Amino acid sequence: MGDVIIEYLIRLFVGLLLGGILGSFLTMLTYRWPRGKSIVAPRSYCPACQKKIDWKDMVPVYSYLMLKGKCSNCKKPYGRSYLVIETVSMTVTTLVFLLYGFTFQAFMLIIVFGVLYTIGIIMDRQGKDKDLI
Ligand SMILES: [Zn+2]
Repeated sequence: MGDVIIEYLIRLFVGLLLGGILGSFLTMLTYRWPRGKSIVAPRSYCPACQKKIDWKDMVPVYSYLMLKGKCSNCKKPYGRSYLVIETVSMTVTTLVFLLYGFTFQAFMLIIVFGVLYTIGIIMDRQGKDKDLI
């Protein structure tokens, strides 16, 4: 019984961690890709003041809530999409791991989710430039 609880706690922890990383990546990808910018470099920066974002301000969901959705330097709002994308990614990834464990199917489901979610976000934003940051 105790082993099952520990297994599910590990699934929960890994799901939140990987989901946060995935959500952070998708946020960057869906911002830069439609603009033809590199998704490899430079490091994450504020779209308003161009300052590189400190590692402590890049913790998914947590940093957004702590900074109240604003840049720590110029205080311009980032937009809610950061919080929404990271939260959805963490939720989906955690649910997939809780249901399927660390199986091949689980990882494939998460990859398919990431691809479809990216396409959905980019399509949804077309023609709505104000929502991009
Ligand atoms: Zn800024």
